[in-house]
Amino acid sequence: MPVTVVGSIAFDAVKTASGEREKMLGGAAVHFALAASFFDEVRVVGPVGDDFGEAELTVLRTRGVDVSDVEHVAGGRTFFWKGEYSWDFNERETLDTQLNVFEHFDPKLSDASRSSEVLFLANIVPDLQRQVRQQCPDARFVALDSMNLWIDIARDSLVETIGMVDCLILNDGELRQLTGQAKLVGAAREVLSWGGPSVVVAKLGEYGAALITAEDYFQMPAFPLSTVVDPTGAGDTFAGGFVGYIAAHPGEERSPEMLRRAMAYGTVIASYNVEEFGTERVARLTGPEIADRVAELERMMHFSDSPIQLRG
Ligand code: AMP
Repeated sequence: MPVTVVGSIAFDAVKTASGEREKMLGGAAVHFALAASFFDEVRVVGPVGDDFGEAELTVLRTRGVDVSDVEHVAGGRTFFWKGEYSWDFNERETLDTQLNVFEHFDPKLSDASRSSEVLFLANIVPDLQRQVRQQCPDARFVALDSMNLWIDIARDSLVETIGMVDCLILNDGELRQLTGQAKLVGAAREVLSWGGPSVVVAKLGEYGAALITAEDYFQMPAFPLSTVVDPTGAGDTFAGGFVGYIAAHPGEERSPEMLRRAMAYGTVIASYNVEEFGTERVARLTGPEIADRVAELERMMHFSDSPIQLRG
């Protein structure tokens, strides 16, 4: 099933313990689209400014991503984000966010984008996410990401929007903040009780991700890497692999086995993403490279009990 993603298309400036970049292609929608492009057709919706050129579009087109709904705002500048990571990559400080063309963004989806059966609402202001959701009434699987900023300043709108999607993907800290529940499982179950999403994915950074549904709890570790270069976009890349895999399995959207495999694909593509800056690694990633790490992850996760006589 084709996938439509709406969200930021950006230039990022990033500093990590491994080095820095002043201006590189980024944005949640871009990271998502590159990852999801391994599974199905992907259409990106979002605005860019005059500074966004053919070189950037080519990165997406090379992976077969449909960029006809990337809206060029004449005279505008592309969304810009600048961040710095702590030495262990576990904390990130945002140093600058310039909304630029996003400030007056009024998403208008083409018929092709509206007709996608799978929709990803990447992290943008929840009112806009809702507007896009309403333009795709026939979507069969809709996933949403958000961030602490919107929980702080637009919680009611965010909760309303979450009520209109099938899957919520958030960092564990954001899930706790959103629900006021101290424990991850309690927080996820609270979201499930709202009657919207039937699938909650908690991103756990270096520790992987957890999937919580009414029937299942499943935790996948991150693919073990000794070094990381730049974690920017790891969450969106994970979401692209996860949602892309689901899109490639129509009719099985809520099967626990399929959701677990989707977690593996998201995890593996995200592991490649963090090995280089921005989109550099995923832009030249291949299917066989993904398959190799998925097989390795499957081997690592294998566990079978050999019962012993327990005392007591
Ligand atoms: P992640 O590392 O998965 O959280 O995503 C990082 C990406 O999100 C970067 O490429 C940024 O361009 C983008 N980003 C950062 N802040 C925002 C924001 N407030 N709204 C939309 N996108 C953002």
